Amino acid sequence: MSQELKSVLLIGGAGFLGLHLIEQFSKLSPNTKIHVFDVRPLPEKLSTYFTFNPEEIKFYKGDLTSAQDVTDAIIDSQCQVVVHSASPMHGLPQEIYEKVNVNGTNNVIEVSKKNSHIVKALVYTSSAGVIFNGQDVKNADERWPYPEVHMDGYNETKAIAETAVLNANSPQLLTVCLRPAGIFGPGDRQVVPGFRASAKLGQSKYQLGDNNNLFDWSYVGNVADAHVLAAQKSLIPEYANKIGGETFFVTNDAPLYF
Ligand code: NAD
Repeated sequence: MSQELKSVLLIGGAGFLGLHLIEQFSKLSPNTKIHVFDVRPLPEKLSTYFTFNPEEIKFYKGDLTSAQDVTDAIIDSQCQVVVHSASPMHGLPQEIYEKVNVNGTNNVIEVSKKNSHIVKALVYTSSAGVIFNGQDVKNADERWPYPEVHMDGYNETKAIAETAVLNANSPQLLTVCLRPAGIFGPGDRQVVPGFRASAKLGQSKYQLGDNNNLFDWSYVGNVADAHVLAAQKSLIPEYANKIGGETFFVTNDAPLYF
């Protein structure tokens, strides 16, 4: 028996990807009530790119490392699916990644499990970087192992969080992970602003490798679509059996290169 997605909670929903999650959920799943949970508020002024009505979004200000904050939001929103897309940015101290990506994700798992009469599925935004250790990756698929030593603390803690989410999969709580590589599109705060800052400083005359290195990029709207699909399908038993406890690369094209 299929079940319609009536309510979703987007943890990290005020971020770059988060706003596109709101946009795509409101377009592709119009009967779903959208709730956002974030430490920072939704922007006061949205880019004209977005078409959703912020007044229709219920916002919870909270920290995902707090069991109380997450519990309150789950109970109030009565969300069948939690989409956890929050993470600190690149380049921060290790303890921040440990706190948010590892402890925070464990907290989201535990609170979701305790409230499995409400939450039926957890979708986690992982990262393609979980299999990257600085060496070339060619023709990778989801069977590619984690490296013994990760590229950095961000990727290491994303891998630990991903493993915890996948291990939590059960008949009571379906879990699924999505692994985008680089994400680009309207509202990006890291990639293009970073390129622009380097260009402004004249830092353009360097080359890494033999100039043939490829990197995988996905448009943010496509990455958001993948999350909507995962959330919707997780409630349909025919698909749930296939995606529960699985992780999926999200890419514009196969194969995946770093
Ligand atoms: P972002 O920084 O724009 O958004 C993350 C959001 O999480 C922010 O709104 C932030 O306030 C929120 N957040 C952080 N800590 C929190 C906490 N303790 N409690 C509640 N909210 C918290 O980042 P993004 O680029 O939109 O990334 C979204 C997700 O996608 C992340 O999980 C990231 O690891 C993953 N990802 C991003 C990229 C990329 O290129 N941007 C690539 C691969 C994976």
